[in-house]
Amino acid sequence: MTEKAAPAPAAAAGGSRAGMKKELPERFRDYKHVWVLIEMERGQVHPVSWELLGEGRKLADKLGVELAGALLAGPGEATQKAVDEAFSYGADLVYLMEDPLLADYRNQPYAAAMTDLVNTYKPEILLMGATNLGRDLAGTVATTLATGLTADCTELAIDHEGSLAATRPTFGGTLLCTIHTLNFRPQMATIRPRVMAMPEAQEGRSGRVIRHALVMEESSIITKILDFIADANMEKAQLAYADIVVAGGMGLGRPENFKLVTDLAAVLGAEYGCSRPVVQKGWMPAERQIGQTGKTIRPRLYIAAGISGAIQHRVGVEGSDIILAINTDPNATIFEFAHMGIVGDALQILPALTEAFRRRLA
Ligand code: FAD
Repeated sequence: MTEKAAPAPAAAAGGSRAGMKKELPERFRDYKHVWVLIEMERGQVHPVSWELLGEGRKLADKLGVELAGALLAGPGEATQKAVDEAFSYGADLVYLMEDPLLADYRNQPYAAAMTDLVNTYKPEILLMGATNLGRDLAGTVATTLATGLTADCTELAIDHEGSLAATRPTFGGTLLCTIHTLNFRPQMATIRPRVMAMPEAQEGRSGRVIRHALVMEESSIITKILDFIADANMEKAQLAYADIVVAGGMGLGRPENFKLVTDLAAVLGAEYGCSRPVVQKGWMPAERQIGQTGKTIRPRLYIAAGISGAIQHRVGVEGSDIILAINTDPNATIFEFAHMGIVGDALQILPALTEAFRRRLA
C-alpha cells in the first residue's frame, strides 16, 4: 500500500501532493542535478556511496541532469583514488573539498562544508548513506538548510512532475509511505547500505573535478580528535556485505542452540545473524539483527532457520540471490518468498548441513 505525505517544512507551506501543488519558490529555481555524498573515513570509501551513485545515475538520467559526487576528505592518495572511483561508478563530476580539517569525520566542519557546497552549487537532490556518519550529517545539513529529509528510504523515483518520490516503510513496516519535498531544495534522502544494488564499475570513465575550499579554522571547531583507538574487542558483524549469511530465529528455542547457527556459518565461511526477538531476548547482540530495524543483507545465499518471515524481516533479506528457509511449519510466511525450503526441525537440519559441508569442503 502506498500513501503520500509531505515532510514537516513542505506540509507547513501547504505543499502536500493532493491537488495543492505550489510553484517552487523563486529562490529554489536554480537548483539542478543529483548529488551523492561520497562517504570516506580513514581512507576507505563506504560502498554505500557507489550503490547510491548507481541509483543517482537513474534519477539523473530521468531528469536529464548531471550526477555529481560530493567528497569531503583530507588530502592524500586515497582521496584521488576515491575521485577516480566515483567516475567509474557513474559520476559526471565530483565536488571536492580537500582539507586537513576534513580528514576525520566531525559533525561541525562536515556540516559547514556540505551546506556551503549546497548553497554554492545548488543540487536539486542530495543522497547520503544511512550509516552512522550519513545519519549524523544528513540531519544537521537538512536542519541548517531548512529542507526536507526522508530517512531510511527503500525506493527512489522521479514522479511525473520531476519531483523526488522517496519511499520508506512506516507504521512498523506495515505500510509504505512516499514522501515528496515539494517547496524546499535540495530534496534529501538517506538510504541504508545494501538496499540499492551495487553498479558495475566502468574502468576508464572520467569526469570533471570542482575544487571548493573549506573556510574554517581548527580553533573554531569544538570537537578535537586526540587519538583514534580501534575497538579490537568489539565483534564486528560484516553482515551487510557478506556472501553467505546463516541466521536463526525464535524457532531455535533457546540461546545455546544458536551454536548450531554459528557452527554452520564457520564451516561455510559465512556471517551469522538473527531475527529481532532473538536480540530482544538478549540471545544475540543487536549488531547481528537482520531486517527493517537491523541490517539489510544481499548475500548470494541466505539460510534462515526457525524464522517465520515477518514483513519486517523480509524487507532486510529479499535482495538475497538465494534464500533457503528451514521451518517446521509448512505454512510459514517465509516459504512464500524463499527460493528453497526444508520443512523440518532446524535443531536436526543445521548440524546435518554443517556435517555435510564440513565433509564436502574438507
Ligand atoms: P517467530 O515469529 O516466533 O517465528 C518462529 C518460527 O520458527 C515459526 O515460523 C515456527 O514455525 C518456526 N519453528 C519453531 N520451531 C522450529 C524448529 N524446531 N525448527 C524450525 N523452525 C521452527 N523482526 C526482524 O527479524 N527484524 C527486524 O528488523 C524487525 N523489525 C521490527 C520493527 C518493528 C517496528 C516491529 C513492530 C517488528 C519488527 N520485527 C523485526 C519483528 C517481526 O515482526 C517478527 O516478530 C519477528 O521477525 C519474528 O521473529 P522470528 O521469526 O524469529 O520468531
